[in-house]
Amino acid sequence: MSSSPETTAPPARKRRPPRRVEVIRVEVLSPAMRRITLKGDELEGFTPETPASYIKLIFPEPGQSEPLRPLPDAPRPKAMRTYTPLAVRPETLEVDVDFVLHGEGPASTWAAQAQVGQVLFLMGPGPGYAVDTTATQHLLLADDSALPAIETILAALPASAAAQVLLEVISAAEERPLQSAATLEVQWLPRGTDHRAAGQPLEAALRALPAIAADTKIYLACEAAAMRRIRELLAGELGVDRKQIVSRGYWKLDAINHPDHDYGED
Ligand SMILES: Cc1cc2nc3c(=O)[nH]c(=O)nc-3n(C[C@H](O)[C@H](O)[C@H](O)COP(=O)(O)OP(=O)(O)OC[C@H]3O[C@@H](n4cnc5c(N)ncnc54)[C@H](O)[C@@H]3O)c2cc1C
Repeated sequence: MSSSPETTAPPARKRRPPRRVEVIRVEVLSPAMRRITLKGDELEGFTPETPASYIKLIFPEPGQSEPLRPLPDAPRPKAMRTYTPLAVRPETLEVDVDFVLHGEGPASTWAAQAQVGQVLFLMGPGPGYAVDTTATQHLLLADDSALPAIETILAALPASAAAQVLLEVISAAEERPLQSAATLEVQWLPRGTDHRAAGQPLEAALRALPAIAADTKIYLACEAAAMRRIRELLAGELGVDRKQIVSRGYWKLDAINHPDHDYGED
């Protein structure tokens, strides 16, 4: 007897209920980065457990003054994108999110006009990167979309660790101090405004590094095709064991709403 689709389908991913949040602060960090603070009673119990975890933000669609609250069995809202809860303050029910203003796209366009009092829905958190706090060497490679994730990783590193951090950004005007208990060596790598060059500055800087020790933990997050090229560079020419690498495609050139689970292990 053949089983019905209901019995063979994988269990649906458990989704946490959407939380209504309001913009209470918009901060210009640099020409291409906005820090937006979201607050709401529905953030009660919102506690991301790992660095580089993620949330889904639902933005208003054209003609809406605020997004509709998503219903449990309704299709996914079109204007929903993945972001990093950078700083969470449970005592005041606030979360900071840093947005790259990269150009077209509902999230980037919304962030460029964001104002106090505007409303979004937030879902999550989803899991991030389990930082190995016993490791003494870390190599963190990211573009600007993953700079918030890198900052949460840096915040979790102990003083006994050292981290080499390569960050690809649009221009040198994006540079800012980074905080960590660990000893940091940071390189800011301006890419310019042509997103087609995504990953090239990271690749060039990686090739110029001294040999990577076998016990180095590597976290890599950037444009999806660049992430795959850099994984191959690490595992091929640079002789790194793939087990040392955790990689994430954070966005994809010419693709709308790239999925949040692109690990490049295909
Ligand atoms: C786990 C995770 C966490 C993330 N955290 C953050 C975060 O904290 N801050 C943040 O800014 N981004 C973050 N991102 C990336 C963000 O989800 C994407 O950049 C998303 O595509 C933005 O949506 P959009 O509506 O602006 O553009 P979309 O509608 O998705 O795409 C429109 C066009 O813009 C291009 N595009 C999208 N993103 C970028 C970019 N960053 N640079 C250049 N071109 C781009 C696409 O290729 C496409 O052509 C994260 C992604 C993941 C998977």
